Amino acid sequence: MIFKCKNCSGNVIYSPEKKKMVCPFCDSEESQERKEYPEHEKDLTLCPNCGGQIPVEVHTAASQCPYCDNYLIFNSRVEGENQPQYVLPFQLGKEECKGKIRQKFKKCVFAPTDFLSEARLNTIQGDYVPFWLYDYDTVTDFWAEGRKVRSWVSGNYRYTETSYYQIHRNMSLDFRKVPADASTAMPDDVMDLMEPYDYSVLQEYKPDYLSGFMAEKYNLPAIQYIDRVKHKVQSDVDSYMRGTYSGYQSVSPISSKTDYHNEAAKYALLPVWVYHYEYGGKEYPFYVNGQTGKIVGNVPVSKSKVLSYAGTLWLSLTAILLLLVFAF
Ligand SMILES: [Zn+2]
Ligand SMILES: [Zn+2]
Repeated sequence: MIFKCKNCSGNVIYSPEKKKMVCPFCDSEESQERKEYPEHEKDLTLCPNCGGQIPVEVHTAASQCPYCDNYLIFNSRVEGENQPQYVLPFQLGKEECKGKIRQKFKKCVFAPTDFLSEARLNTIQGDYVPFWLYDYDTVTDFWAEGRKVRSWVSGNYRYTETSYYQIHRNMSLDFRKVPADASTAMPDDVMDLMEPYDYSVLQEYKPDYLSGFMAEKYNLPAIQYIDRVKHKVQSDVDSYMRGTYSGYQSVSPISSKTDYHNEAAKYALLPVWVYHYEYGGKEYPFYVNGQTGKIVGNVPVSKSKVLSYAGTLWLSLTAILLLLVFAF
């Protein structure tokens, strides 16, 4: 499908700034109509607007035609069993996202000159990344031995008294919407760092939100990511548990068992801006949470800039370089 403007037949897209569909050609709002076109899997790669070839991967759900710039949504990848339950619409627009990247990296004096150039930053792309959101109710039975040590001096002797305590906790914790990205193209650790998202503004899925962005459908069913999610839940359970006892010199866990109940998984598309920066034949991808503006990525360091400083400022330079590498 494709969203067209009834006034000027331009491609209508969703505006994060206005929180509605807008025609970027005649500025009209609420003028969109949804155009369907016959879609067979084999024809997915042909633009219904201009007939050009669109690069479509096996999981591509929405894309942009490189010839006529129209944004297309592939019905078969967002309907039926592929239909998301929720979408978190982009709240951060492209210009605002560019501003956030500039703000964050303007002090990186060794970054390549064109890293923050308008031309390069204009290549950032909004991606709806497929996520499974899991619900779990957990009950954890925890046993441990806690030790308290007290020592004092009396006469010529020092006394040490060690007391042992049995710690037992039975704790229920309910988790809602624990996210795991269902895209093999997106690095899991980076997607975990994109958190947290505010799910209070999660919307029921409708394709309008996708117009103007790229989107991917889930690569694997929810059951494939359960180990990863349970690992996340378990580490939260453990850290919460540690907060329930205090005052011991040491605690030795004896047993801990977590049962999971009422498991459920919902399919949602979450917004991420992606900046693919290439430098010295290497890719430096940057990811920006399309809701909160949180940035994850590593800045490349320009060797020529570093060399032009070397010799005079070597000590402080080393310190700055270390900062650059480890700051993210
Ligand atoms: Zn228009
Ligand atoms: Zn086209």
